[in-house]
Amino acid sequence: MSNESLANLLKEERRFAPPAGLAAEANVTAEAYERAKADRLGFWAEQARRLSWETEPTETLDWSNPPFAKWFADGRLNVAYNCVDRHVENGLGDRVAIHFEGEPGDTRSITYAELQREVSKAANALIELGVQAGDRVAIYLPMIPEAVVSMLACARIGAPHSLVFGGFSADALATRIKDADARVVITADGGYRRGKPSALKPAVDEALTRPGTENVRSVLVVRRTGQEDIAWSEGRDVWWHDLVEAQSDQHTPQAFDAEHPLFILYTSGTTGKPKGILHTTGGYLTQISYTHHAVFDLKPETDVFWCTADVGWVTGHSYIVYGPLSNGATEVLYEGTPDSPHQGRWWEIVQKYGVTILYTAPTAIRAAMKWGDDIPAKFDLSSLRILGSVGEPINPEAWVWYRKHIGADRTPVVDTWWQTETGGIMISPLPGVTETKPGSAQVPLPGIAATVVDDDAREVANGSGGYLVLTEPWPSMLRTIWGDDQRYLDTYWSRFEHKYFAGDGAKKDDDGDIWLLGRVDDVMLVSGHNISTTEVESALVSHPKVAEAAVVGATDPQTTQAICAFVILRGDADAHEEGLVEELRAHVGKQLGPIAKPKRILPVAELPKTRSGKIMRRLLRDVAENRTLGDVTTLTDSSVMTLIQSQLPTASSED
Ligand code: ATP
Ligand code: MG
Repeated sequence: MSNESLANLLKEERRFAPPAGLAAEANVTAEAYERAKADRLGFWAEQARRLSWETEPTETLDWSNPPFAKWFADGRLNVAYNCVDRHVENGLGDRVAIHFEGEPGDTRSITYAELQREVSKAANALIELGVQAGDRVAIYLPMIPEAVVSMLACARIGAPHSLVFGGFSADALATRIKDADARVVITADGGYRRGKPSALKPAVDEALTRPGTENVRSVLVVRRTGQEDIAWSEGRDVWWHDLVEAQSDQHTPQAFDAEHPLFILYTSGTTGKPKGILHTTGGYLTQISYTHHAVFDLKPETDVFWCTADVGWVTGHSYIVYGPLSNGATEVLYEGTPDSPHQGRWWEIVQKYGVTILYTAPTAIRAAMKWGDDIPAKFDLSSLRILGSVGEPINPEAWVWYRKHIGADRTPVVDTWWQTETGGIMISPLPGVTETKPGSAQVPLPGIAATVVDDDAREVANGSGGYLVLTEPWPSMLRTIWGDDQRYLDTYWSRFEHKYFAGDGAKKDDDGDIWLLGRVDDVMLVSGHNISTTEVESALVSHPKVAEAAVVGATDPQTTQAICAFVILRGDADAHEEGLVEELRAHVGKQLGPIAKPKRILPVAELPKTRSGKIMRRLLRDVAENRTLGDVTTLTDSSVMTLIQSQLPTASSED
């Protein structure tokens, strides 16, 4: 970004008040902001009492060695006890914790009492494999109940887990096993993906031939797909159904220090080499439990919660495992893709389980928009009462579509901004309090301090843009980058003194509400103006023919950078339609002003995305500037890039 502040071009006037009934019964009301403002640490100390501590903490925050925080440092607790056992002790053993829906249609409902037995057996199995508190366990599993059970079993015995998304290659797995120096890997023969079994175990076998992975003593294998030809390393590999099923279902959880490591998780890799983010126990669970209660207004007796993320991402850690289970929720866990075997699968699941709260990502919402309104319309979605979004800025048009076609124009939509590094939600509307604005995450949650600053670390005025920063430590903050304190300092704490630099651009609107504008690295410099990718993409998506857009700045002799847009059209639009590109350019010009008009617009069939579904703009920049592509290893499908490159001549002719 140049020394000029980030332009504020997009005007969005639509407003949605919280439904009266929801507001009247909301878990958290406007008063929480006041209380937290008056005594931030007191507020978090109060939230820590949501948990059961073996030793109650007397200190809240130790910030004597910034930016290395300690929260609730003299408290002791067990995370798995908090997520499972205490609910059973409170008489809720018969409540369903997880409704599992396999992609092939197999189902399993697991009560809290059953979950307690499963987690205890798995904990006993890990102990039999020699896992001790502090040892790292890598988990490479599909979205099956054993993934949740494994995570809780690790937490129960104090062994930090490191989940590796099941779609990653042997290379990515090996790097992560090595970086964390894992002792055990938990995997499966395979999982179901788009109607077919897809093997996982061969990637583990291959990863374990790589140097640096020698400390893995055991591989625990869940039988999911039943493939016959599975390679087996005697003495190292052991079946889950042999080892875990043979264990006692009794295990007494032991308490650990609040700062005991809970997990390492690598960021999605949108911007480059993934970072091993370290999270600990007491502060993490406090904020995750509180935010899940506040942002989703969870009523554990009646709600059915569904977060569609993979457990391999932070969203899955915090809002499939630790948030919902610490709050005693009933939730859905779905193994597969949204379009298997048909494009209405998700809506069928909402109808089947009576899902009341749905938490998903803009990429999925835009895919549903592309597939057409008629698909969700075939299902009864009337149980839904709150919709959430996370992962990327949500374009206002996608937000409105989500509310209208999934939420019957009735449910609040909460756009939640956070990162692997923040551990939990930081900026979001509260469904019973905030008048929502499509496309904006709006306000820091009670107890969270976030703002937007310029190059000189000065807070920008309302109506201006700059860098998103967090100005006070928060309980679920990362503690460091695993094994690399210096990178932790350099990446997050050196850009601005005493402030956490999130790497995202943002603006404050006239009311002081925060709008996320994409990554700072992606900001375009056009004729002396900093223009955000998000605003131009949102303007494109607001055209009725466009479902999805990715925008990058490509070097240009006249304007420093020229805006180059890649668009996916909605179902019935024709990419070869005469005048289409001019029509889209004019539309952006009208929405945002002439400065934001893309110089080139290229209709494409697909966009390069990370495996968590985020658009990878740096690769599109390589394409737009005719460079060799950078690292594509975290990409879902690298053939997308070949396809886009082959279409490029059309783009140049628009110059
Ligand atoms: P890497 O750090 O390796 O590049 P990543 O940033 O994609 O990967 P995550 O931690 O999964 O890894 O994603 C956090 C980022 O996602 C945020 O910094 C932000 O750019 C984006 N993001 C998440 N939620 C929102 C949201 N509600 N609005 C706008 N952006 C969001
Ligand atoms: Mg990041």
